[in-house]
Amino acid sequence: MAASSSNKSWNNSTFTNGHEVGSRAKPSSRDSELRQGQNSTLQKKVNGFKKQAQSHHTTLDLLEGEVKAFLIDEDELHTFDDLTKVNPVTTTTVLKCLHARYSADVFYTHAGCTLVAVNPFKHVPCLYSLDVMKEYHVDPQPQELKPHVFILAEQAYRNVQGQVEPVNQSLIVSGESGAGKTWTSRCLMKYYATVAASSSSQKCQDMIERIERRVLESNPVMEAFGNARTLRNNNSSRFGKYIQLQLNRSQQLVGASIQTYLLEKTRVTCQAASERNFHIFYQIMKGATEQERLQWKLPGEAQFCWLPNADQKLEEDSFEVTKDAMLHLGITSRMQRQIFRILAGLLHLGNIQFSAPANESQPCELDLQSKGYLQTMAVLLKVPQEEVLAQLLVRTIRAGRQQQVFMKPCSQTECGMRRDCLAKVIYAKVFDWLVTFINGSICANSSRWSNFIGLLDVYGFESFVLNNLEQLCINYANEKLQQHFVAHYLKAQQECRLNRLFDAKQFKTRLEKALSSNACLSWDKFKESPHFIVSHYAGTVSYQIEGMMEKNKDPVPLELIQLLQKSQDSLLQDLFVEQKEQNDNRGQSKVITVVSKFKSSLESLMHILHSTTPHYTRCIKPNSDCRPMTFKKEEVITQLEACGIVETINISAAGFPIRLPYQSFMDRYGLIQNPQQLYPVSGVNGASPAKKKSGLGAVGAVEAGEDALGSAVRDIINVATSGQA
Ligand code: ATP
Ligand code: MG
Repeated sequence: MAASSSNKSWNNSTFTNGHEVGSRAKPSSRDSELRQGQNSTLQKKVNGFKKQAQSHHTTLDLLEGEVKAFLIDEDELHTFDDLTKVNPVTTTTVLKCLHARYSADVFYTHAGCTLVAVNPFKHVPCLYSLDVMKEYHVDPQPQELKPHVFILAEQAYRNVQGQVEPVNQSLIVSGESGAGKTWTSRCLMKYYATVAASSSSQKCQDMIERIERRVLESNPVMEAFGNARTLRNNNSSRFGKYIQLQLNRSQQLVGASIQTYLLEKTRVTCQAASERNFHIFYQIMKGATEQERLQWKLPGEAQFCWLPNADQKLEEDSFEVTKDAMLHLGITSRMQRQIFRILAGLLHLGNIQFSAPANESQPCELDLQSKGYLQTMAVLLKVPQEEVLAQLLVRTIRAGRQQQVFMKPCSQTECGMRRDCLAKVIYAKVFDWLVTFINGSICANSSRWSNFIGLLDVYGFESFVLNNLEQLCINYANEKLQQHFVAHYLKAQQECRLNRLFDAKQFKTRLEKALSSNACLSWDKFKESPHFIVSHYAGTVSYQIEGMMEKNKDPVPLELIQLLQKSQDSLLQDLFVEQKEQNDNRGQSKVITVVSKFKSSLESLMHILHSTTPHYTRCIKPNSDCRPMTFKKEEVITQLEACGIVETINISAAGFPIRLPYQSFMDRYGLIQNPQQLYPVSGVNGASPAKKKSGLGAVGAVEAGEDALGSAVRDIINVATSGQA
């Protein structure tokens, strides 16, 4: 938990497996050996190769580079703190270097303007301790310390203050599922909760301690309700999250606000083999007291269809941690019990099975057991049992201009879909309610904060045997982020391969059109049912079309909403009250497709990201089995290639790792062009003192291109700001 300055005890430096964690990075001995010719054997070999290559001048440099890269002592590779020092920069040499560092228990490496974080899949002692945080925070040059995510954190913290004016910052953590994004985001939050409180006065301690704690406590709650075990990750985020940490002018953390993106609510009712539902369901099942079990009708031996693999023990299953965190956020025990009772009701709902009637014109039937589950579910959700049954078995059709109402018995499949729909809409509403509540608890009044540091943790790129709309949206989000990265650092335009598809008003029509006109899209000829292939930046994924359109429309029958509005439970009433008003006015709910909603929320995210200074961390998953000390080269290569690591290193090595907006650059360096304008600071050419002081007076001279220095500055400006406009 975050420590206050009064009780924080910073110890002396800490060590990780013999390596001093925060110690200043030593210059690469490999570099100096080659430069100074100290290693004569090595140098002789290089010279020998040079001679051989004399007739091929153009390949000489490359050859020398290859020689350097391959003749170096393998024992030295782990000392390369920045991949820009690897020569030549190829996926192979980068991989070798990362592998060597991983084997030496070194998990962070700079890649020019980005940081590569290889998931250790084990506890690394002291890597994130308070002492280490302090080391990076107090050092005047933290970037010279060993690579660490705290360097980025500290850079952002210093930038936000700004030398000229405050600039909002974003820390963008990317990588495939299980690579370590959520872990990294948590570390970053702890860092700010610690360092942003360290300068606070004793008077404010209580308040700040509380807000830091609440901000951190949002994590276990959000993860309990939004994370689940998947084939890729035991604690996989099934929603995207952008949290803005709000700082006041004294750089203190005074609040935060959370924006979430597209919760994978289908998981409530449908879990792939070996996967699980959201953690919270297992936490309730395993952690409820005897009394709670009685209240929520959850006997220990109960079997629930929507609770597969309940025998697996995960560290994420702690009900106590979630309840404690909820309490700290202001969700009282009474409110908590209300939420858990509703979720228990959903488990009972999931056990209701329908059997087809002998006569098709009749509604489906329920066996005795299902009737029992229906009864319990109705009690827990406080809804009229007979009405639930009627709404599950019969659907209402409105037709014609007058919206005449017809009743039609549902098929067995339709009954199941209505049951699932009911569960999904309730769960999604509970999740949204939680996010709103948490925001109410942690968000500071706008007058109290001036700037923010945003942390972005979205679901990683996914490719399963069967991929549907959920994966399409997840991968689209990753495409957009990659596009942002490429545009920002590599200054190239990379088309988002799904843009045209996602521009769809008519998804299906657009899909067909897109398939015939977009080179990145094609039909999957090897599948029996229709599938289309998208060649994403991170790999090729085949998407199943079946069910996609329905998922996109995500229809919630009006009568189901009306049923929930009749609940005697105050929370359920609150959750559906808004919809009640909407429907009353329109008579029918407006259909906003999942894709269009997701696309517009991503667009506003991109808008925010573009307005901030970004800092990228690339998380790498060294093996798909989540095992410690296992580095699978093929798997790492795919990830390195997907995020364009070689291009990133090359562009950084070329010397343009820092990009300043034109105005900031001129404010800071404009005076170089005409130093005498440093004095006087007032009264020249009518410019105000403030303008003169900030160097704005020099801009005109630079633009006029009066002398050599002026043109040099212009060149630098062009490089520094190329593509900024
Ligand atoms: P998803 O996209 O599925 O949400 P993710 O990238 O958020 O995946 P995490 O949940 O952060 O992945 O990490 C997966 C697991 O890897 C963690 O639960 C943890 O066990 C381990 N892990 C990640 N980073 C670290 C680290 N720096 N040190 C130790 N273990 C780590
Ligand atoms: Mg995650």
